[in-house]
This record gives sequence, structure tokens and C-alpha cells, in this order.
Amino acid sequence: MNSISDSCPEIADIQVRVFSMRGSLIPSDPFREFGLSVPEYVECRNPNCKGGRFRVWPVISIAASRHEATFRTSSVCNGYERRRKPEIPCLYTFTIEGEITYRSNEPKG
Ligand SMILES: [Zn+2]
Repeated sequence: MNSISDSCPEIADIQVRVFSMRGSLIPSDPFREFGLSVPEYVECRNPNCKGGRFRVWPVISIAASRHEATFRTSSVCNGYERRRKPEIPCLYTFTIEGEITYRSNEPKG
């Protein structure tokens, strides 16, 4: 699979915003934005994080299976703070939100 539309062919278009930060989300926080080329994984933004990443496609697949127009989910990073001994879990959180347009909802021409 090369893109989310390969695994979810009913998706006509999509906007995805990915937040990766420590603490709670505020509206002005920076985010990365993707379209149909949204990658399967996004990396943690914590510069000291080791191995932290979030799988985006399953979130979209679940939303698409429910035919949801919007989706939003948060998940604590699965990485570790590399500068701490002993290592402690990364305290960053991923938040994924977006909108999905389905082929069945497109205007028929
Ligand atoms: Zn992390």
C-alpha cells in the first residue's frame, strides 16, 4: 500500500492535521497538515524522544469504516526520553484530527 486511498478506496479527499507536543493542546499550536498523501507514520516532535511515532492510517481506516466526516483522536507517545537514566516514557502526546470526503458523497455529474 502506498497511500491511504489504496486501503480506503471510498475516500475521495482528506485533510489531516497532526499535533505532537507536550501537554494539552491549545488552538495556536503548530501542526503538520496532510492530504491524500498522508504518511502511514508521523514522528514525535520531542527532540529527545527515542522511537516515538504514531500510526495515522489505522485512525483514518476506522473513521472511514464508520463513514465519519470528521475524526479526532489523541494518543500518548510510545517513545522514551533518551537523556534520562533510567529512561522514562516520552511525555508528548499525538493528536490527529481531520475531515474526510467520501466518493459516495460527491455530487453526481
Ligand atoms: Zn515522543
